[in-house]
Amino acid sequence: MRLHNGKLFWPDTLKKKGIKESRSEISSHYDAVIIGGGMSGVLAAYTLLQQGLKIAVLDKRGMGEGSSSANTGLLQFSNDIMLHELIEQIGEEQAVRFYSLCKKAVDQLEETSRSVKRETDFIRRKSICYASSEAHAGKLKKEYDALTKHGFSADYWTGEEVREHLPFDKPAALVTYGDAEVNPYRFIHAIISYLEEEGVHLFEHVEAEGTEQKDDSILLHTSIGTFTASHLIYSVGYDLSAVKPKVGAAINRSYAIATEPIEDLSLWNDRALIWETNRPYLYMRTTADNRIVAGGLDEEKPEAPKDESWIENRAAEIEKELQQLFPQLPIKKAYEWGATFGESLDNLPFIGRHPEREKEYYLLGYGGNGTVYSMLGSHILCDLILGKENQDAELVKLDR
Ligand SMILES: Cc1cc2nc3c(=O)[nH]c(=O)nc-3n(C[C@H](O)[C@H](O)[C@H](O)COP(=O)(O)OP(=O)(O)OC[C@H]3O[C@@H](n4cnc5c(N)ncnc54)[C@H](O)[C@@H]3O)c2cc1C
Repeated sequence: MRLHNGKLFWPDTLKKKGIKESRSEISSHYDAVIIGGGMSGVLAAYTLLQQGLKIAVLDKRGMGEGSSSANTGLLQFSNDIMLHELIEQIGEEQAVRFYSLCKKAVDQLEETSRSVKRETDFIRRKSICYASSEAHAGKLKKEYDALTKHGFSADYWTGEEVREHLPFDKPAALVTYGDAEVNPYRFIHAIISYLEEEGVHLFEHVEAEGTEQKDDSILLHTSIGTFTASHLIYSVGYDLSAVKPKVGAAINRSYAIATEPIEDLSLWNDRALIWETNRPYLYMRTTADNRIVAGGLDEEKPEAPKDESWIENRAAEIEKELQQLFPQLPIKKAYEWGATFGESLDNLPFIGRHPEREKEYYLLGYGGNGTVYSMLGSHILCDLILGKENQDAELVKLDR
């Protein structure tokens, strides 16, 4: 299954990749084996490593070459489903708890970025969500009320205030604080280098083929032999061939571009992460080297687009929409890609223990906030593996 096509931007920002050499020797036993070396897998490995566990991570591709290299790197606590909508869906206490976990996960991502001691282009940003139409202004006000009632820092801008702060005209906007941007590819490879130094066993181009239970251990059969582990984590992203779960997922596809560097981005309010109320939404951010990365135009098709001219066509559409928002900027796309993108039907990720197989766990951060979900999920899984109680596990469990 191809997870992306077109010309990706992030891999070009890192000449020397993190992993020195894929291992070929398998140890006799691991505390945890992680299938999938994308954002989810490396964050899980990082989190488990802090607890002193002996870990192996394997990937049938190169590490970080799955969907994580197509990620546009916005780290937001606000979700595809707004807080007031989530309150209607799962109740106030649970919804606020989930939003708080997401906010904390952005802090945990910052701590991780700092502790791996390599450049990841992690920068704190505020987010601006503008009302795509007059009819959506009320929704933003409702969201502002819900967020501030529960202690999340936010501002509501009227149309006049939007015009004061931004070069475009929209009926209203919601500003939230506490988000961040990252170069996801650098971030993954920074963590991988750290994991390697700390003795985590990393196996590239090794495919997980099946499992078996033997006494207290799991035998994982792979293309290079059998791993024996106490616990197994599936962080296989949108490629579900290894897990075939019955989760309520919708696998779609999405598009993104990165522009040529732009000398002066000073009119971009605090270089905020910008998105909108329309679904699917257009979203955009700036990069450390002064480009704009923007994405959107999701389509309900499960395969990454193959046709290069179709990707070019969708990318031109994103470029045009961007230019309409920022008529003063010389916007010229330099990279364009299309990728598979997984969402869940109830807008929450799938994280937790397999309903029947006690020692097997899933870390599937489906949704626009995938990285944030992977971070919070790695802490939930860490507790489950260590046998600690985690009340948040109920929120995102597979059989909900
Ligand atoms: C266009 C686009 C933009 C996005 N923008 C954002 C954003 O701004 N912010 C955000 O938070 N998220 C964003 N996301 C989502 C984000 O990319 C995902 O949440 C993230 O990549 C998921 O990481 P992962 O590790 O779960 O998946 P992946 O990176 O795909 O890693 C899974 C790995 O598992 C491996 N694998 C699968 N099966 C096997 C097997 N049988 N054996 C061995 N290995 C296997 C694969 O090779 C793969 O490398 C975006 C996604 C797309 C497509």
